[in-house]
Amino acid sequence: MNSSTTEKIKIQKADKSRIDQVDFENLVFGNVFSDHMFECDYKDGSWQTPTIRPYGSITLSPAAKVFHYGQAVFEGMKAFKDEDGKVWLFRPDQNAKRINKSSVRLAIPEFPEEIFFEALTTLVKMDRDWVKSGEGNSLYIRPFVFATQAGVGASPSTEYKFMILMSPVRAYYAGDIQVEIAEHYSRSANGGVGAAKAAGNYAAQFFPTNLAREKGFQQIIWTDASNHEYLEEAGTMNVFFRVNDTLLTAPISDRILDGVTRKSVIALAKRDNIAVEERRVLVSEIVEASKNGSLKEIFGAGTAAVISPINAFSFQNTTHNLEKQDDSYAVKFKKELTDIQRNRCEDPFNWRFEVV
Ligand SMILES: *Cc1c(COP(=O)(O)O)cnc(C)c1O
Repeated sequence: MNSSTTEKIKIQKADKSRIDQVDFENLVFGNVFSDHMFECDYKDGSWQTPTIRPYGSITLSPAAKVFHYGQAVFEGMKAFKDEDGKVWLFRPDQNAKRINKSSVRLAIPEFPEEIFFEALTTLVKMDRDWVKSGEGNSLYIRPFVFATQAGVGASPSTEYKFMILMSPVRAYYAGDIQVEIAEHYSRSANGGVGAAKAAGNYAAQFFPTNLAREKGFQQIIWTDASNHEYLEEAGTMNVFFRVNDTLLTAPISDRILDGVTRKSVIALAKRDNIAVEERRVLVSEIVEASKNGSLKEIFGAGTAAVISPINAFSFQNTTHNLEKQDDSYAVKFKKELTDIQRNRCEDPFNWRFEVV
């Protein structure tokens, strides 16, 4: 391995790339990782030397607090390669800020944004061959932080590890999605951690989602924890409802994740003169709209799938099917977003960030 240093980051390069062993045509989402990863430890009250080294295992004490108390947060973002071989990130400033917002909620020390950026751009440059051009291809980037201090005392850790992994992925197509509206379980509560990308939020969703799957649904549309009256998120995505030609989505609160895809869809809708209402959306209102034919579409919005059209929803054991729309907003926003991400059109909002 040869070592070098950027302004701040210590770099150990892999002797040999593993890229030739990867079947890029048959990737399973998030199972293969690029040659390098980023790592930075927090101890004695400060972040230590940031390091990039070959992707590989880490060693932790079995008493590391993350295993016992789940003190961990993460991010999800993507790099894209255009037809000229340039590599782009999409609104990376949003992820840098959000991981720190999540960290604050989980009593984890914030990570310096400038080191986050340098780590991100250095890693992507080093592993740029892992970003494939072409429809649907991208490099999924997973920054995360977790508590590493050994000790089962129930208090915030004094030590942490911040890491970034990168995984080449293909277009995420879930097929026809049928969802169930939650009437018993909840994803998040008032004053809880729903607005943070906390690892435990996902663990808590697995069991109710498995129950929904056994009944033939792919996802759950989460409702408010108090009375299950208001629609909040779809699985791990923000959710939009199109009633006639108006888009409805829940407002950001401490129960709702402030998604980058969500806010980008809202900005595009406003630009395209589509009415958007960020307000609480009643389950009863959507059931009624489905009955009277004004409910045209439901779709999820998130980095992994960009836009996921939902074909049917079930509430109180009644299934409501949605008809395909010729002027589908889901299709329109997916195209507009991916065209901006992949440098196939102008970037009126300055969302693209060129890495190399
Ligand atoms: C990550 C996430 C989203 C989507 O956020 P993006 O920034 O668009 O990827 C939505 N809901 C939840 C619960 C999430 O964890």
